[in-house]
Amino acid sequence: MNDAPSHSECLAPPASLGILGAGQLGRMLVQAAQKMGYRTVVLDPDPNAPAAHLSEEFLQFAYDDRQGMDLLAQRASRVTTEFENVPAATLDHLSQTIAVHPSAFAVGVAQDRIVEKNMIRSCQLQTAPFHVIRHPTDIFNTPLDLFPGILKTARLGYDGKGQLTVNDLEELHLAYASLNASSKAPHASEPISCILEKKLPLQAEYSVIVARNERNDMVHLPIQCNQHVKGILHLSSVFEHALGFELETALINATRTLAQELSYVGVLCVEFFILADPRASHPNASKSNLPTWVVNEIAPRPHNSGHHSLDSCDVSQFELQVRALCGLALVQPRQHSPCVMLNLLGDLWFKKGTDPLEPPWEKVLALSGTHLHLYGKTQARKGRKMGHLNITAAHPKEVLSTLEQCLHLLELPPLSRDFLTMSLPP
Ligand code: ADP
Ligand code: MG
Repeated sequence: MNDAPSHSECLAPPASLGILGAGQLGRMLVQAAQKMGYRTVVLDPDPNAPAAHLSEEFLQFAYDDRQGMDLLAQRASRVTTEFENVPAATLDHLSQTIAVHPSAFAVGVAQDRIVEKNMIRSCQLQTAPFHVIRHPTDIFNTPLDLFPGILKTARLGYDGKGQLTVNDLEELHLAYASLNASSKAPHASEPISCILEKKLPLQAEYSVIVARNERNDMVHLPIQCNQHVKGILHLSSVFEHALGFELETALINATRTLAQELSYVGVLCVEFFILADPRASHPNASKSNLPTWVVNEIAPRPHNSGHHSLDSCDVSQFELQVRALCGLALVQPRQHSPCVMLNLLGDLWFKKGTDPLEPPWEKVLALSGTHLHLYGKTQARKGRKMGHLNITAAHPKEVLSTLEQCLHLLELPPLSRDFLTMSLPP
């Protein structure tokens, strides 16, 4: 059992929590903090961002504006970030006057794929094979066994943006030129840094979310099985025993190792690839031969794949973030319902033409076990995350049957056989 935190470490409500970023993650963090009696101060350049109107205080400033940072430090008692691309210099500046969790160091590692992959490897964990390209001449040293590969910008990529698949050196030259041309890097005349990563045959993708406090107490959410479509998360499922005990323990331990290595405080998500193994049809199929897995990337914040926890667990990932930030005890979340989370992208608003039309939520909400979360974004755009739908039931098969009905109502393709195989126990 965790020791009770000493009074000096523990920040009690109604203290004010500072949050950099007012996107959907900031919004759900504000909601969790307010539920527990904390006040919030949110900083974001966009006055219409999802958390802007919910927070007790909203500071409309750019992330690198000194006045904004100083106001945030005055108004809040501790600061966290919902947004991993907040400039490291901002977190550094803030941490001179106020406690900032996670640290500028931990966020800085996650901001750069090259630093991130080297850190993962330094923990004796595997990543996909990769080659660093900082300049066009680096392309000539590319190991040819990395093809077909995915060229990824080292910085500022998300939801599959800043990534191109390439099959040979010629395509790599073109892709590197095209990523440079579309880069919004501050020093646009300098070539951008990228990695070429070998495209791996994936059997499944899983993620593990841990929360860690300053005393190295750590707890985790149930492990998520994730399906991406065009680089964007589509579905996450949490069904007990979907992965064998050994593999699940290995992934949780790897996540704990990374959190410890980063002296991480807050909620951390680690994404994993399970590689296709022609000998096994399911990652849980063979007890003695664990399938090969690699770490894909880390996210220094609550993660899209953990949104199920709002309706499937007695403690959500957002409450865990509040607890870790405030030095409260971290209690192991208990999952009370099998659950699937479906991301609701802006595409759903354009099923009937070019003018946005609200999807038929009343029909979706007439099905039992559906929990709708919309982020209050003012404009629907294709590919934009507008909300998510959590579906719970007493048994995984009921969850999947309700999900099939929701997909039909929302005019989305039915579940793939792969997702059904990978998300359920064998
Ligand atoms: P992002 O930062 O945009 O989430 P990721 O590196 O996680 O970028 O890539 C998004 C998705 O693209 C992954 O979840 C996976 O489905 C696919 N992907 C990325 N890298 C690889 C790879 N090396 N091999 C196979 N698929 C990959
Ligand atoms: Mg990812």
